[in-house]
Amino acid sequence: MAIAAFEFDNSYARELEGFYVPWKGAEVPEPKMIRFNRPLAEELGLDADALDSQAGAAIFAGHTAPAGATPLAMAYAGHQFGGFSPQLGDGRALLLGEVIDRSGTRRDIHLKGSGRTPFSRGGDGKAVLGPVLREYIIGEAMHVLGVPTTRALAAVTTGEEIMRQNGPEPGAVLARVASSHLRVGTFQFFAARGETDRLRQLADYAIARHCPELQGQPDRYLGLLRQVRDRQAALVAQWMLVGFVHGVMNTDNMTISGETIDYGPCAFVDEYDPAAVFSSIDQHGRYAYRNQPMIAQWNLARLAETLLDLINPDDREDAVRQASDAINGFQEVYEREWLSGMRRKLGLDRAEEGDLELATGLLASMEGQGVDFTRLFRALGDAATGEAGAALALFDDSTAFDAWLTRYQARFAREFGAAEDRVAGMNRVNPVYIPRNHLVEAALDAATAGDLAPFERLMQALADPFSVRVGFDVYALGAPGDFGPYTTYCGT
Ligand code: AMP
Ligand code: MG
Repeated sequence: MAIAAFEFDNSYARELEGFYVPWKGAEVPEPKMIRFNRPLAEELGLDADALDSQAGAAIFAGHTAPAGATPLAMAYAGHQFGGFSPQLGDGRALLLGEVIDRSGTRRDIHLKGSGRTPFSRGGDGKAVLGPVLREYIIGEAMHVLGVPTTRALAAVTTGEEIMRQNGPEPGAVLARVASSHLRVGTFQFFAARGETDRLRQLADYAIARHCPELQGQPDRYLGLLRQVRDRQAALVAQWMLVGFVHGVMNTDNMTISGETIDYGPCAFVDEYDPAAVFSSIDQHGRYAYRNQPMIAQWNLARLAETLLDLINPDDREDAVRQASDAINGFQEVYEREWLSGMRRKLGLDRAEEGDLELATGLLASMEGQGVDFTRLFRALGDAATGEAGAALALFDDSTAFDAWLTRYQARFAREFGAAEDRVAGMNRVNPVYIPRNHLVEAALDAATAGDLAPFERLMQALADPFSVRVGFDVYALGAPGDFGPYTTYCGT
């Protein structure tokens, strides 16, 4: 039975014919709701009661299309680990449609794991429960940490068993929400085919959706590039500030909106290590923690290349110069965003000469010391005001940190605001609870074996990451010694 729970307004399907293939989700034996994000459904203006049901599970499994949906598989290309693939596209995903949320913003509703499409290449078009719940957990955690991200609307199982590396696993689909699914790779798809008219159409669509104030302006394509640069610089700065490693920063996984997308082989660092890399296929550490800003800039240069004909159709050299200037500005925006984030983490209201050095000095003192990134920042509020025991105890050898602390305490004392207010402010940006790798793995293993309780409990801990709560002690601890080096996997 069709339920009318969405008021779709599908601009992508309507305005960008030729940029996608209309498609349908695969029928599945037994759609079952595993988790439904009711507050998000309400934010989107959906009929949450109607969707939190068997009929809703069938919709989110891709098994039935709701009234008004125009499901489609989007075309895109992408640089994967530096090598260009001219055709990727939604190989196991569908854009169901768009809704206008309660604040008037257009949001995509998208299914991941809904079956094969014309873009599937060798893949089965499916997803399995563990990775679906991983995207659910980490995406929602990022959101409450204040990091721009796609959201998880629902996770369903399909009743199928899907073959993966270690045997059969429960089939699942994630329904996710994004400001759009436009990627750098979407532009690359049409640029690689030399389809300049379509590229212009795409760029104008992106401008209307993400930077409407640029509409109709003669230099709007350069403006678009600059805005994507600013958003990506701000985004990656936020990743760095919470210790997040995306793991697969291919250009098809980089949004025009500036939201984090595609939580595959991602992880939060436990012990601080600038070279941290978790993905099994990232053998050379291309997407290591410290490389993320540089890679974002590299990806933006790939976007810039696609826009040259639009930036100045008559003078290539001039187009290259303008685009290069925009891309070269990345570092400055990134550094500004990162430093202002570090000031918040350090409880500093004003900018002072030497703050950048102070911030980088902290990280240098942490290097090679086995110090838990999240716990250290959380301990800094006390350390700033003279109670440094908890922070010092996190280091193997705290000599360098101790020296840094003396400078930091002096700097902290030079602020005008009351120390306790500033410490309270620090505790609103330095989380107690993050999705710890060992806890995520344990929750996913239990869920795959049929026990959702650890997943639900973890979601509870992560829902309010900044306030210490009774009964959640284990969620604030670093990885246990026997957890060992952590490896994550793609394309699961
Ligand atoms: P990702 O690594 O998830 O960003 O995906 C990269 C590309 O591989 C995209 O074009 C996906 O649609 C495609 N892909 C990933 N997993 C599958 C799968 N199981 N079946 C078909 N296509 C897939
Ligand atoms: Mg992807």
